[in-house]
Amino acid sequence: MTIDLRSDTVTKPTKGMLEAMMNAKVGDDVYKEDPTVNKLEERLAAMFGKPRALFFPTGTMANQTALKLHTNPGDQVICDSNAHIYHYEGGGASFNSGISCKLLQGERGMFTAEHVIEAINPPDFYHSPLTALVEVENTANRGGGSCWDFEELKKIRTVCNDHNLGYHLDGARIWNALVAKPETAKDYGQLFDTMSVCLSKGLGCPVGSVLIGDEDIMQNALRIRKILGGGMRQVGYLAAAGLYALDNHVVRLAEDHQKAKEIEQVLSRLEFIKKVEPVETNIIIFELTDKKNDTQFLKIMDDNNMRISNMGNGKLRVVTHLDYTDDMHDKFLTFLKNI
Ligand SMILES: *Cc1c(COP(=O)(O)O)cnc(C)c1O
Repeated sequence: MTIDLRSDTVTKPTKGMLEAMMNAKVGDDVYKEDPTVNKLEERLAAMFGKPRALFFPTGTMANQTALKLHTNPGDQVICDSNAHIYHYEGGGASFNSGISCKLLQGERGMFTAEHVIEAINPPDFYHSPLTALVEVENTANRGGGSCWDFEELKKIRTVCNDHNLGYHLDGARIWNALVAKPETAKDYGQLFDTMSVCLSKGLGCPVGSVLIGDEDIMQNALRIRKILGGGMRQVGYLAAAGLYALDNHVVRLAEDHQKAKEIEQVLSRLEFIKKVEPVETNIIIFELTDKKNDTQFLKIMDDNNMRISNMGNGKLRVVTHLDYTDDMHDKFLTFLKNI
């Protein structure tokens, strides 16, 4: 048995999910005739209190579409130095939209409204790129699954209004934040112009993300998705997995969070571990006292069929998920205690 804690993307569809997929009614989604995709889009739009939603194969494509919708070539997006759009989307911001990222040195992937104000280039100063968009990530992946303080997000909204900037949420793990914090999906919908949400992370779907947003800004989303190669045909089979996950896999995220907490507690007692970042959701980021031992530590894990991620710079990452069972959890904790 391999215990794979590299990411919450490693899950496989459950029996119930596969059944829902097999039974899906489908049509050609490029003609917008797939009833299951339409149902998923309507459901998510209603859930976040927005008029429009569009299904995408990946979160990357949903984010890249959002960047394109909010900007013109030469513009700049303000984001955290740890942002997924900056680190893990292959340079797509420049490749697809011809824009640059202004990186903020936040705290665990999160910054403040003050930081944003300082980073905005004056629009009449034509030597600098035009600031067009603010992007935040909740939960913040490289921040260790950290959750934003909603009051700060509101303050940033005000800054966006004052400076005529778009406001996009990378909500790949918004489900984890919704379970961990009191705010609702509609609260997020009221704040952001556009939001991407992933079905293939904690929710356990094989594929799928959805971009949700306001009517005016989403008008061109279908065209951008087509240009990026994301116009898919009888894709209701995949949307059915998403609908199933919304019914069955949201509330249970609390179990992943609980397990992550327990892993944090064990790790923080081990003498060869220097620091464990505060755990709020399903991600645990930690550092060994001696960075040089990272490779050796990962090898010991590997030899025992346990897999975790190396984030670089001495940071190691464990992510709990749907396929990480109680039995695996017991084994993993026992193993850690005995290293
Ligand atoms: C996973 C992830 C995405 C989307 O990734 P895809 O693999 O393209 O679906 C976007 N943002 C964050 C923070 C993520 O963790």
